[in-house]
Amino acid sequence: MSDRVHEFGFDTLQIHAGARPDPATGARQTPIYQTTAYVFRDAEHAAALFNLQEVGYIYSRLTNPTVAVLQERIATLEGGVGAVCCSSGHAAQIMALFPLMGPGKNVVVSTRLYGGSVTQFSQTIKRFGWEAKFVDIDDMDAIAAAIDDNTRAVFCESIANPGGHIADIAAVAKVADSAGLPLIVDNTTASPYLCRPIEHGATLVVHSMTKYLTGNGSVTGGVVVDSGKFDWSASDKFPSLSEPEPAYHGLKFHETFGPLAFTFHGIAIGLRDLGMTLNPQAAHYTLMGIETLSLRMQRHCENAQSVAEWLEKDDRIEAVTYAGLKSSPYHARVKKFCPKGASGLFTVALKSGYDGCVKLVDNLELFSHVANLGDTRSLIIHSASTTHRQLTPEQQEAAGASPNVVRISIGTEDLDDIIADLDQALTKASA
Ligand SMILES: *Cc1c(COP(=O)(O)O)cnc(C)c1O
Repeated sequence: MSDRVHEFGFDTLQIHAGARPDPATGARQTPIYQTTAYVFRDAEHAAALFNLQEVGYIYSRLTNPTVAVLQERIATLEGGVGAVCCSSGHAAQIMALFPLMGPGKNVVVSTRLYGGSVTQFSQTIKRFGWEAKFVDIDDMDAIAAAIDDNTRAVFCESIANPGGHIADIAAVAKVADSAGLPLIVDNTTASPYLCRPIEHGATLVVHSMTKYLTGNGSVTGGVVVDSGKFDWSASDKFPSLSEPEPAYHGLKFHETFGPLAFTFHGIAIGLRDLGMTLNPQAAHYTLMGIETLSLRMQRHCENAQSVAEWLEKDDRIEAVTYAGLKSSPYHARVKKFCPKGASGLFTVALKSGYDGCVKLVDNLELFSHVANLGDTRSLIIHSASTTHRQLTPEQQEAAGASPNVVRISIGTEDLDDIIADLDQALTKASA
């Protein structure tokens, strides 16, 4: 895939980027390199690898050939220069912040986030001495006002889970940029097929690969993609990247690796010392999934659009948040940020309240009641009693997870079957 004149399209890259026939065997599919360690050619080779003077494989906590193919594939699909895979989406969020933050530093984050991310940011990161400042991501003045001398990043979701709010990534990037800060975008709900945050100014993109990238509910995984565009040396705010890094015998990552500074730091220090490594089996499943990403996303979007339109007209329904609907305040942003569709995830508010939601999830037959999304199977969850249970009522509402709301992840089954199942269960829920 090198030295090419013709630029491959997304559907080709999702199958080929990063992969080549195995040099040892000719195996066409990417082998699962199920190994912990790699034999050094000699002591000099080993030293060069440890000094990061030569790129190669040392130990699978840091790098693995199967995982490396996945990293290159996702970096290509997102339009980044490099990527670091890790064990889950939540691991990716810590890995994205780790080189930027330090005790007393803060990150300005959207209130419209996956419930687990709200908990991670509002509670758990405090133990590192980090702080999250929550803001309405549609309010540029609020974002600018929340940024102070100790802020090190701005964080939002492209299409927010579960409410389906679409962030104005370009506008948020502008605010972050004028404060000299990187913008981190969680692109899990959209996938790079629907949204490419780097094109709109994002510095880093994170994913829970657990969802649409793998696409069939088989593994947990995460990734941080670096745009390679941020100047880490423009201020003294990012010493881990711009100054001699004591955790790597004084290496200056930005000076040494240029646009790949963040990626190298993520592997050489992040994976080395935090150990949130993706295993090669999981990387294999995710590579399999990504081969069909565009095909699945098209079907997810088509089915979700039809189901959302059907639900919106139904008497038993109070509201549907799907951004693909004309009634959505985010409808105009679909064209700009996710021109191929608004994904397969949305929330539905029932007139029958909390009890109706419980009856709905208990009576669906085709849908599974699970804490996941982005599966080929249609999934449902009552967020207020599960994923968003730890949040205050105000946080639940801000995240689009009020008590009478269910989150639906529309699968790739036959549309008629999805609607028939919802119809019968809604009848029981409203009885
Ligand atoms: C699921 C999810 C996460 C967390 O990912 P895990 O793989 O479950 O750790 C983060 N962000 C979003 C938007 C998610 O949907």
